[in-house]
Amino acid sequence: LGAMCFVTGILLTRSRRQALIDRVVTWMAFLGAADFIVRPIILAWLGMDGSSVDKSLSSSYWLMTNLSAIVFCLLLALSLLSAVAIDAMRELSTESRTDPLSGLLNRRGFEEQAAPYLAGQAADAAPISLIIADLDHFKEVNDVYGHDAGDRLINDFAQLLGRESGPEAIVARTGGEEFALLLPNTDLAAACLLAECIRRSVPALRQEGASGIVSGRTCSLGVTMRSGDEGLWALLHRADEALLGAKRTGRDSVRSTFSRPVSPPTKALRAAG
Ligand code: GH3
Ligand code: MG
Ligand code: MG
Repeated sequence: LGAMCFVTGILLTRSRRQALIDRVVTWMAFLGAADFIVRPIILAWLGMDGSSVDKSLSSSYWLMTNLSAIVFCLLLALSLLSAVAIDAMRELSTESRTDPLSGLLNRRGFEEQAAPYLAGQAADAAPISLIIADLDHFKEVNDVYGHDAGDRLINDFAQLLGRESGPEAIVARTGGEEFALLLPNTDLAAACLLAECIRRSVPALRQEGASGIVSGRTCSLGVTMRSGDEGLWALLHRADEALLGAKRTGRDSVRSTFSRPVSPPTKALRAAG
């Protein structure tokens, strides 16, 4: 038992996860190892061999040993239970922020990452842009090729967006066939280039559907850049307007909007009334 606890402790110290509860379980394992290994050594040292079993069973040493074993088992069970409960809570929290179809963030996850990110960036910090991308006439895909093919196409589109936007971007599936990409260190021109690149890649996505191959689909994209210390809602609103513009003017296109920051009036202007 001592060896098992010791090996468990060693394996746990090598684990990448080292949250408080993980360290507690690790130390419990080492404590168990020490307890199980040290006890027989003490017994041997005291000369309590098989011939003096009755004597050792009635000793206070034996009583203490049993008591400490009970306390140890209870503590170990409690820390293992806590570790399992914390794991389950973590998993639930990740699931509630993730879109199960694409593996990207869902709207809630996006808002929880993007809003504080924007709030933490000063007005004069590096430019930040937002793209909203929506597949065109997607209802048709479901109607003609089946919902399964539609799902797979949404997933392909999601992977394309994730790939193209780079590791810094916060990418999410914010609705059925609608996605948002928050792009740190990206100005409007660069964001438009990326949006155009995405638009051109969409027709090449292919999936087998119930009535043939789905391909040649298109998407519309709305792009905007943060102005001043704008928060997420203002950005989403403007990118949505740009997307609506792209939809109104025939789809399969990129539209952008940008609102210049309103600078406070200068002293001279204020004096002039
Ligand atoms: P538009 O070009 O104006 O965006 O037209 P649209 O048909 O793409 O948009 P609309 O909002 O009319 O319909 C969106 C469709 O997307 C309706 C719904 O059936 C489909 N959809 C939403 N979520 C999913 C999903 O998870 N899987 C599949 N297969 N289809 C979905
Ligand atoms: Mg659509
Ligand atoms: Mg839509």
